[in-house]
Amino acid sequence: MDRQIEHYVDGRRVPGRSGRSAPVFDPALGLQTGEVPLADRREVDAAVASAKAAFPAWAGSTPLRRARILNRFLRLLEERADELAAVITAEHGKVLSDAKGEIQRGMEVVEFATGIPQLLKGEVTENVGTRVDSHAFRQPLGVVAGITPFNFPAMVPMWMFPVALACGNCFVLKPSERDPSASLLIAEWLTEAGLPEGVFNVVQGDKEAVDALLEHPGVAAVSFVGSTPIARSIYQNAALHGKRAQALGGAKNHMIVMPDADLDQAVDALMGAAYGSAGERCMAISVAVPVGEETADRLVQKLVPKVRALKVGPGTDPEAEMGPLVTRAHRDKVVGYIDQGVREGAELLVDGRGLKLQGYEDGFFVGGSLFDRVTPEMTIYREEIFGPVLAVARAPDYATAARLINEHEYGNGTAIFTRDGDAAREFAHQIEVGMVGINVPIPVPMAFHSFGGWKASLFGDHHMHGPEGVRFYTRLKTITSRWPTGIRAGADFVMPTMK
Ligand code: NAD
Repeated sequence: MDRQIEHYVDGRRVPGRSGRSAPVFDPALGLQTGEVPLADRREVDAAVASAKAAFPAWAGSTPLRRARILNRFLRLLEERADELAAVITAEHGKVLSDAKGEIQRGMEVVEFATGIPQLLKGEVTENVGTRVDSHAFRQPLGVVAGITPFNFPAMVPMWMFPVALACGNCFVLKPSERDPSASLLIAEWLTEAGLPEGVFNVVQGDKEAVDALLEHPGVAAVSFVGSTPIARSIYQNAALHGKRAQALGGAKNHMIVMPDADLDQAVDALMGAAYGSAGERCMAISVAVPVGEETADRLVQKLVPKVRALKVGPGTDPEAEMGPLVTRAHRDKVVGYIDQGVREGAELLVDGRGLKLQGYEDGFFVGGSLFDRVTPEMTIYREEIFGPVLAVARAPDYATAARLINEHEYGNGTAIFTRDGDAAREFAHQIEVGMVGINVPIPVPMAFHSFGGWKASLFGDHHMHGPEGVRFYTRLKTITSRWPTGIRAGADFVMPTMK
């Protein structure tokens, strides 16, 4: 209960001094298990100062040295994935196999970042003018900050810092205050892998710490992942303070099921994508759009028994397919959305409200829930629920289904299930969404591609990791050079052109 969580500054854990803190829970038991300090401006200043002091030497080290440290970190992650997964499950609630899955996806970004010597290779043009050469390379920005959500306490930070560090930046992470402990293990293992003190710091906190980072003149760039209202304000505030920013927001991901789809495959895909991690994924499918009444009837008929049979339990139960929600407040919010859906006239086919598990009566559980005949004006269609609630929105034809997606506020991920290559190609080409799956329900790009949505799901120009990550965390410098030849051309007062 009184486990005191810490910050990580200058290569070591440091206790909070602000006098403010927040409780951390075990969501399966509904019990407080720790206390996380909430940093004030002075504590944020200390972390940024530590990162700033470490920057010249880190930026001046060779990319190969930085890659080797990340390689050692990768090996530690591999050896200790179980330990990290247990910490994630204890504070987030997701099942252990899912926690290991997020670590695996994060490790892939570290693997990508170890290729930094190749990724930082610049451009050279010989003879851009007579005896004049140009070359361009990318340099790190300085101290960069990452602000991350509760739903992937290891993976989302790993979308950011491996690439940032590999490029030569120093990093200050502000993790979610709901599950802050994974970030401390990561920080310690980076130090153990040989990362110099101050290159990676963690400040625990809430809005106060975030505002301090956004306003700090020593922070050059901010990466944010979280809900859309906060993402929008982070992007605006960062720009106001002259910082580069990428702010990834919420989602409402649709999956179209065409009449020719392999329906069993589509149903299995929907079950995992809608209910995995209790729906607390930004790439979760929350709306199924069957095309045609017959497809819809068959789809719903197959879904209902499967949703009823979902195995819900504590994340440590190897049989459980889905754990609790992260907090009591979030559980109540999800239940409130189900109430609202019923009030607005959607057909609740499976009701997960009021689920009680023996031995876990106070846990933050909601069972799998399924709505049919959801329409675009309903709140449960428009807003992100972020829980185990799947809405079926029937569409008479493909054009209506695609229009639903294009007219939605969010544009993170989407999928189509079909055997028709023509329809799939049309979908990939026309749909206004950043990440598209064709018979793939959660099309999360691999580390060497880049992750990011469109519309209200991303504010900024760059997606995360992959080549976009390298561009975000570096700035381009172009050098034009001429060496003395003894030939003097005299002063030239017109705009220089190359002859
Ligand atoms: P959140 O927006 O509540 O919090 C995200 C971060 O912002 C946390 O570190 C939090 O401490 C901080 N924060 C919260 N309120 C703030 C405020 N008023 N001012 C400044 N900072 C503030 O999000 P969450 O509940 O932790 O995470 C779930 C959300 O994240 C969902 O909307 C989900 O879709 C989204 N998400 C998006 C992606 C993506 O890639 N687009 C990935 C994961 C999660």
